[in-house]
Amino acid sequence: MKIIYSDAHKGHAGAPEMRGESFVPMAECPERMEVILQALAEAGLADVQAPTPHGLEAAARIHDPDFLRFLETAYPMWLKEKGPGSAAFARTFGMRGMAQKPNMNSVNAMLSAYTFDIFAPLVAGSWQAIRSAVDVALTGAGLMQAGASSVFSLCRPPGHHASGDLAGGYCYLNNAAIAAQFYRDRGAARVAILDIDYHHGNGTQRIFYDRGDVLFISLHGRPEEEYPFLLGFADETGSGKGEGLNLNLPMPPGTRIGTYMEAMETAAARIRSYAPDMLIVSLGVDTFDGDPVGGFCLKTPDYLRLGQVIAGLDLPTHFVMEGGYAIDALGRNVANVLTSYLEG
Ligand SMILES: [Zn+2]
Repeated sequence: MKIIYSDAHKGHAGAPEMRGESFVPMAECPERMEVILQALAEAGLADVQAPTPHGLEAAARIHDPDFLRFLETAYPMWLKEKGPGSAAFARTFGMRGMAQKPNMNSVNAMLSAYTFDIFAPLVAGSWQAIRSAVDVALTGAGLMQAGASSVFSLCRPPGHHASGDLAGGYCYLNNAAIAAQFYRDRGAARVAILDIDYHHGNGTQRIFYDRGDVLFISLHGRPEEEYPFLLGFADETGSGKGEGLNLNLPMPPGTRIGTYMEAMETAAARIRSYAPDMLIVSLGVDTFDGDPVGGFCLKTPDYLRLGQVIAGLDLPTHFVMEGGYAIDALGRNVANVLTSYLEG
């Protein structure tokens, strides 16, 4: 299995996040990639390839042009206005009843309109990292198109909270959704996205909710008490042509592997009946017991079982990295999913 990875993510670093009552370094940090690469190498997965540049055409199939312009221009504008030393993030948000088309010459207006929380800061290296994560996803997709049976796109920043014109939850461009569209545009009739990150993939759900060509399944902490709070309920099943093609499997805090495996089997059955040409796995391991931003209790050996269920689907499978923040266990958890998948 080839691993697609770029160092370009490293410049997306140094912004604080609010936890409890204080600002702390963001859990979504460059060290995540280091520990994953190290654990993969220790597990014999060392076939690492750099991405090829793809431009923004594929991203523009999913994301609004003004939103892309915002991501590219906001930090340089912020720097000009405020000077160096601080990360750009919104102070207000474009909520219901407020005009949401921002003045593209005002960095504060753009941040208010195009982010939905305070967990999408922009710093000097963010845009380069965001673009490279898309290249990492698309380079993996290109290999799949060329006949690979599986590939791992080690994307950073992650993408599944980002929708067509909203960034948030550490996510800016939706790498998995862009890859799904890439497959559709090159002849795949049906694509399934299985999102096993601890948090609901609200961005991916919104992007494909009305569409009849992409099945989206998310296993996650139930939104009654977990981020992103306003989406991810079991009764969200898709609309219009997408009716029946959105499956949310929310689970309560403290969920362990037994309950989680029941949801995995439900997801697997739905994917089998859909019979997609391509499976994308939004691979988050913040379901780990001890993850600083997760609330489930999966143990490191449990991740072997997740890889086995995915292997049992016997589909071309494109793994795309999402969350996972317990630095000491993150690498091994990811490696366990991938090695057990490969052992099938
Ligand atoms: Zn997550």
